[in-house]
Amino acid sequence: MKLFNVYPLMNVTPVKAKDCILWDENGQEYLDLYGGHAVISIGHAHPHYVQKITEQLNNISFYSNSVHIPIQTELAEKLGKLSGYDDYTLFLCNSGAEANENAAKLASFHTGKDRIIAFNGAFHGRTSGSVALTDNPKIVAPFNAHHKVSFVDYDIDAIKEIIAHGDVAAVIYEPIQGVGGIVLPSDKFVQELRTVCTENDVVLIADEVQCGYGRSGKFFAHQHSNIKADLITIAKGMGNGFPIGGVLISPEFEASYGLLGTTFGGNHLACAAAVAVLDVMEQESLIDNAKEIGEYIGIQLNKFPKIREIRGRGSMIGIEFEFPIATLKNNLLEKHHIFVGYAGTNVIRLLPPLTITKQYVDKFISALETEINIIING
Ligand code: PMP
Repeated sequence: MKLFNVYPLMNVTPVKAKDCILWDENGQEYLDLYGGHAVISIGHAHPHYVQKITEQLNNISFYSNSVHIPIQTELAEKLGKLSGYDDYTLFLCNSGAEANENAAKLASFHTGKDRIIAFNGAFHGRTSGSVALTDNPKIVAPFNAHHKVSFVDYDIDAIKEIIAHGDVAAVIYEPIQGVGGIVLPSDKFVQELRTVCTENDVVLIADEVQCGYGRSGKFFAHQHSNIKADLITIAKGMGNGFPIGGVLISPEFEASYGLLGTTFGGNHLACAAAVAVLDVMEQESLIDNAKEIGEYIGIQLNKFPKIREIRGRGSMIGIEFEFPIATLKNNLLEKHHIFVGYAGTNVIRLLPPLTITKQYVDKFISALETEINIIING
């Protein structure tokens, strides 16, 4: 049987990885500034992570949500403490799309309404209810057939106008849009949005699947705007490669048996991975590191010509160039053996492991300098 061919592949076969480095089958080393799409938070093959999962595997790797699973409670407590959301509850699932689906569902149950407001350029996952924007080929919203979706710009009046119709359950936003090209609403806009949602009994969902879990230099990226969201969705960096997702749920929401559910969500192994991630984030002060390294990258990048804008927070960085970056991205990989991501045609996206050091950044900066000089000098 062949694989269903839906992913364009880079010509690399990683067979081994450690911290920020990958090796292919020929022993060639690569610097990973992409972390498998923001997934590798504590670095590849961290010893504590390997140990935690191995121990769990030797005890019990899976049993269903019909029994007590103490490691779920351990995870929820650690997450509450580290994120500052102690008073929220946690629903565990398996991916970002699933987390957002459950959040949308909860918002509808809670408000009795069925419209979701999302933002142009957003990406919230791919499921059967996904909505494609006409002016943007990306598939962006995982809401089910029962939800109506309105897309807006960061325009508070447009949002108020839609809410005035009385059918809006939730507004969902990415505190930093990832797939959309590292785009941030202003803190003032987010604060106004919070107020409008509260005044109108509309649920505010922060999709922290890509920008959360320490990447922005705070545990959650929306915390830079000094607000609290009602529902917060997480995945990617949460398991450092082990599939796990979740929804942090405000105390306003009441749980009842059967309201939400999943077979694999919160399984022993995934929770062991997620607990190990939080342990390492705390022990190695990775959130502070993400912030410091982000500032360092910003300063280093400022010296380059041909860059239109540098966006992002902490170690979630978009570098918008004056030219399409496809060749630059390929050259960084093939000539300099550095993995970076992209968004749209002109943006290089950096989503390194949060363990990244200045030494690795310098390697990237020097490679970028070489390539930009080649472009300038022809
Ligand atoms: N939300 C955001 C902000 C994302 O970036 C993604 C994945 N790129 C998703 C949701 C969907 O996550 P998953 O692929 O785990 O379903």
